[in-house]
Amino acid sequence: MPGPAAVQPPPALAARTAAVAGSPIRDILSLTDRPEVVSFAGGYPAPELFDAAGLRAAYDAALSAPARAARALQYSTTEGVPELRAAIAARTTSRGLATTADQVVVTTGSQQGLALLTGALLGPGDVVLVEDPTYLAALQGFGLAGARVVPVPCDEDGILPDALEEVVRRERPKLLYSIPTFQNPTGRTLPGARRAAVAEIAARLGLWLVEDDPYGDLRYEGAHEPWLAAYPGAQDRTALLGSFSKVMAPGLRLGWLRAPAALLRAAVVAKQAADLHTSTVNQLAAAHYLAAVDLDAHIATVREAYRIRRDALLAGLPDALPAGSQWNRPEGGMFVWARLPAGYDATALLKSAVAHDVAYVPGAPFFTTAPDHRTLRLSFVTHTPAEIAEGLRRLGRALG
Ligand code: PMP
Repeated sequence: MPGPAAVQPPPALAARTAAVAGSPIRDILSLTDRPEVVSFAGGYPAPELFDAAGLRAAYDAALSAPARAARALQYSTTEGVPELRAAIAARTTSRGLATTADQVVVTTGSQQGLALLTGALLGPGDVVLVEDPTYLAALQGFGLAGARVVPVPCDEDGILPDALEEVVRRERPKLLYSIPTFQNPTGRTLPGARRAAVAEIAARLGLWLVEDDPYGDLRYEGAHEPWLAAYPGAQDRTALLGSFSKVMAPGLRLGWLRAPAALLRAAVVAKQAADLHTSTVNQLAAAHYLAAVDLDAHIATVREAYRIRRDALLAGLPDALPAGSQWNRPEGGMFVWARLPAGYDATALLKSAVAHDVAYVPGAPFFTTAPDHRTLRLSFVTHTPAEIAEGLRRLGRALG
């Protein structure tokens, strides 16, 4: 019998994967997937508000006749099914940004839109500007592309335009990634005057804008702000990302990308390589849903429920957080951003919270350079007001 052949280990993973850490809080949060936990952690839409009956009827319609089913179950074009592209364009136009179907590509969640733009625009060493703090999965994507992420100073209202101009001149970035409305993780909304200033700076200094807007439909009070993409100077350089996750259901994995023609073409090529196309049956079901159901009426129901939940969280925070804590009052979206008094570390305290059957997301991982360990993000949409009140009592005990 010959002895065992000498074996070599396989080669190393790509260096860029080593440079991007998984979320350090995932391990702790994986312990929160128990029914008794009140979770202020994930941005999970309230499941009882999903229109399961309406979606089931839409899937039935998509699969009802043999010819329809044959289409729904077949491969389809990378750009998306025409009915859904047209419906997205019409919704976008009705919200103040004139859009045709051929300016829109359907994506597998807006997360994929972000990945496609990252692939189309950023190579190793390219600079991308972000709000500080910002959406963690965007930071991971930029890191995997080998891009250099540079924070733009922000205040309670988001990006400071003067600081943006200074950073653009210094760093020569290719793009600014922004969540101008009900930002993740802070819930902040960029006021109109600053939007105009950001668009003007992007045009004058030569910069792409990536505007991520999964939360814009979830406004509970205050006046609607136009998309950055609608401001003079920004039209030819803004990629707008939209999503059905928060207003229909995240499990559908349906989002869209609206971008200038050359950028859209590059994103389509990247999408061919990524997944050929977004699920045909999900797209057709969504198109049937949009034709049969008044989505805006459904969104109004969701908004009313979420406004009450936001208010329940805000009402309970004074007793739940240690004296001297601060937090904001977002006009929409899913998140309240809080800061504990000096000496508290929200990352270290998460273990104690989980032991008390309550969870939140520490703020530190959302920062690019200098993490503020006193911050935390609280999502108020997943639970009922009574559950929120109970969760806050537990949080008070955990932090007290
Ligand atoms: N961008 C931001 C800012 C988000 O918060 C999320 C969802 N957490 C996404 C993009 C991705 O959303 P989806 O892929 O479900 O559309």
